[in-house]
Amino acid sequence: MNSPHVAIVGAGHAGGRVAQHLRALGHAGQVTLIGDEPHAPYERPALSKELLLGTKTQDSLVLTSSGYWTSESLTQTGIERVCASARKLDVDSRRLHLDSGAVVDFDLLVVATGGMARRPHWLARPIEGVHVLRTVDDCLALRASLEGCRKLAIIGAGVIGMEVASTAMSLGVPVTVLEAGDGIMGRCLPPLVASWLAQEHAAKGVDLRTRVHVTDVVRAGSTDGSALALRIEARQDGAPVSIEADCVLIAIGVDCNPAFLRGTGLSDERGVLVDEFCRSPRAPWLYAAGDAACTLDSASSRHFRQETWRNAENQARAVAGIISGKEEPYAEIQWMWTDQLGHAIQVTGVHEPGDEIVVRGSLSSADATVISLRDGCVSAGVTVNQSRERRHLERLVGTRRRIDAGQLADTSIPLKELV
Ligand code: NAP
Repeated sequence: MNSPHVAIVGAGHAGGRVAQHLRALGHAGQVTLIGDEPHAPYERPALSKELLLGTKTQDSLVLTSSGYWTSESLTQTGIERVCASARKLDVDSRRLHLDSGAVVDFDLLVVATGGMARRPHWLARPIEGVHVLRTVDDCLALRASLEGCRKLAIIGAGVIGMEVASTAMSLGVPVTVLEAGDGIMGRCLPPLVASWLAQEHAAKGVDLRTRVHVTDVVRAGSTDGSALALRIEARQDGAPVSIEADCVLIAIGVDCNPAFLRGTGLSDERGVLVDEFCRSPRAPWLYAAGDAACTLDSASSRHFRQETWRNAENQARAVAGIISGKEEPYAEIQWMWTDQLGHAIQVTGVHEPGDEIVVRGSLSSADATVISLRDGCVSAGVTVNQSRERRHLERLVGTRRRIDAGQLADTSIPLKELV
């Protein structure tokens, strides 16, 4: 196939980058970028921070620049942008059916659908003042709701929940966070760092409640506006509790199983299963990139989904490269950052329960690198206001160096000397 027609479903960060890289690598075939958001492809990290706070504009989030995505510019680059949602995939005929009624025949398909904000079973239909946060439009709606808001309740203490809690405190909005588990950010942070960060939030006035299972949210405000507008019914450690708020954010994770692939056997609740070349073993014409891709890590023979900015960026580049003939396996050390309450936190690798924890520096002074050791080797680490150490940490994780815990904890030995 000399110049295959590549259809990309999902016009977000990963999808947009696949299209750009294909063109930059000289792909001569047709490129069709399909996505249902009306906006040019954009990066999402600022949605829970700077865009919500008002210190960045929507335009500044667009990939490359908004000029790249105008229809005149797309005509020049030869990217066809279709604003629609893929509804169904015909595997045998390699045909996509869109909700607009259009069909797209393709040679190669890239799935870059990201994730859909998960909604709880009790939220059967939208309730005014109850939000999720995944898109620019979600962010702008939440920002409007926060104006004049006397209390924000956040359901879920993951990365979105805690970043929005931090942003809301900066806006002067009191916050209650309700988390079903025992602590905050359990998927990203080792418990030691998570409990330090939870204390920081509590010290700044965030009302953080764990082991809370929300069962319902109802409109409850008085007609004169003196009472708070929403009532959250929940159970904490089995006992019923009721919490009032003007605005509710649901941040309980994402679903990455694209609806248009259901029934094809190409994806499941883990996402779109692909090999180390980001290619489906069941359909070698199908690739995945970004949050939706559940990719084989050849070192561990396990499949992982990486819901990070870096993965959207780098897996998109890798997929465009593989389609263009570079047969290089995709291998990425997980890396994410979060800014909360003025602290710059970066997480490299994946901490697992049972890892030995070594603290370099002082967490109570908010100046530390917390390193996870597995079988004596550096497997992951978190820098707290020590961003300069991240590069060295990443090399230690990448090379899986066996290092003595005492040496790692000794701040008189620079981390780069241990690499
Ligand atoms: P998340 O990180 O998966 O966190 C969801 C949290 O909600 C978890 O602590 C989860 O607890 C809890 N939870 C689940 N069901 C609940 C319920 N019914 N009631 C109360 N708590 C519940 O997901 P997220 O914060 O919604 O973020 C969504 C996506 O955006 C992720 O892909 C994330 O990586 C991405 N994101 C990344 C960044 C960054 O890298 N800085 C920033 C923003 C967003 P359990 O774990 O116990 O289920």
